[in-house]
Amino acid sequence: MHDVVIIGGGPAGYRAAERLGERGRSVLLVEKGHLGGTCLNVGCVPTKTLLNSAKLYAHALESERFGVSADSVRFDWERMMAWKQEVVEKLRAGIAGEMKKAKVTLIAGEAAIEGPGKVRVNEAGAPSCIEECKAILIATGSSPFAPPIPGLKGNPKVLDSTGILELKDFPKRLCVIGGGVIGVEFASLFSSLGCEVSVVEMMDEIVPFMDAEQAPVLRRALNKIKWKLGCTVLSIEGSTVRYRDKEGAAESIEADLVLAAIGRRPNVEGWGAESLSLDRSAKGIVTDDRMRASAPGVWAAGDVTGRSLLAHSAYRMAEVAAADIDATLAGESGGRERMRWDAIPWAVYSIPDAAGVGMTEQEAKAKGFDTACAKINLRASGRFAAENGFQAQGAVKLVSDKASGRILGLHGVGSYASEAIWGGAALIEQEMRASELRELILPHPTVWELIRDAAWQLRDQ
Ligand SMILES: Cc1cc2nc3c(=O)[nH]c(=O)nc-3n(C[C@H](O)[C@H](O)[C@H](O)COP(=O)(O)OP(=O)(O)OC[C@H]3O[C@@H](n4cnc5c(N)ncnc54)[C@H](O)[C@@H]3O)c2cc1C
Repeated sequence: MHDVVIIGGGPAGYRAAERLGERGRSVLLVEKGHLGGTCLNVGCVPTKTLLNSAKLYAHALESERFGVSADSVRFDWERMMAWKQEVVEKLRAGIAGEMKKAKVTLIAGEAAIEGPGKVRVNEAGAPSCIEECKAILIATGSSPFAPPIPGLKGNPKVLDSTGILELKDFPKRLCVIGGGVIGVEFASLFSSLGCEVSVVEMMDEIVPFMDAEQAPVLRRALNKIKWKLGCTVLSIEGSTVRYRDKEGAAESIEADLVLAAIGRRPNVEGWGAESLSLDRSAKGIVTDDRMRASAPGVWAAGDVTGRSLLAHSAYRMAEVAAADIDATLAGESGGRERMRWDAIPWAVYSIPDAAGVGMTEQEAKAKGFDTACAKINLRASGRFAAENGFQAQGAVKLVSDKASGRILGLHGVGSYASEAIWGGAALIEQEMRASELRELILPHPTVWELIRDAAWQLRDQ
């Protein structure tokens, strides 16, 4: 009998396994694919590795104006892909090592819940068996979503985010369907390497959850990409994408390859959810703020809950679930930790990157706040101008509640945004006011010291 069986070895599954193992719980972790899940194998890590190579290439191409000559700059797609794979495999081995250290039993196989405290495990090359446990954590993640666009399914010229990470030949022309985070990151990667990239997006702006003033800044910064906004894809024939534009006219894009980046769906089926009749919403498995699912002895964490499809959210959900499982197994009424959703940062790792945390101005207004906002062009930063030139696009925006001065949101487009945004998460988590931010001392010259200037700007509103 195990204390806990965890289904899925992505960020949610392996982080919970580690925390519970460290607490001395006997943990069985079952993973049907690769340890590390989507994030390590076909998500965060491989995309950021490739984007870094693309960034080096793009910087080398424009190094001349900064006084550095790099003659005959070339990129080698095959070597970029090999480096990506090396990074993934080394980090995967690192997670396996962490599991060993935490004394987690790992099975490479598929798991399905058979009933309360019972999980069937089909291990490759071994007879199927039932594992008994006191608690089950569902961490089955999510998969790319393929909408019913004629010509999309089964078309060898159409890849999803997983397929494109195995691409052998670098395309001359790429059409990306979907201008969300994944679509924009791939569009930035390929366009930075010289591919002719078009993005067809149904909404009127890219990355629809971004602040309405910040998304256009990112779009303008990604100026090598042809944006087709407010356009609906009608069909795909080979690698030609037919769509209806904003005015209703039928248009098409001829490409060599199509990337379908239309979203992801939680994996809510195929692991026995029906055996426990777990509550599900349109998003995913429903949990409370301790990550308890609707059946006793069952928890869920990560993308499968559909609440926030981000690896760092998965980590935190896993930690909250692990604390609650541990306390419950100790006979207590539950853990003291709670999942909080208000200060989860996000990032788009395009070149340049963008990041944000908390409410956009539009969300704050919709929630009834009388807002005060400050927006500063990043060219006001000496470091930004020195590193990017005086034409580069970038902006920081601070959203606050006028009455109390509390900071509600921080949004940035421009270099290092994804590295700096944790500071914004701390501001919001601690419910800091603009006056307190003004008293912080930030290093100079940095790009994101501008958030203090934004806080000073708010004083005058
Ligand atoms: C291209 C791309 C880029 C991304 N970039 C970022 C980023 O930069 N930052 C970020 O925060 N997020 C990013 N994400 C999202 C991130 O990858 C996910 O939010 C994260 O992986 C979710 O973790 P998880 O553990 O919930 O699920 P997953 O990582 O999907 O892991 C679930 C695991 O469960 C296994 N599994 C499923 N069913 C069973 C079963 N029945 N038995 C055994 N095993 C099973 C699967 O094989 C999988 O390994 C990206 C995603 C994609 C696709």
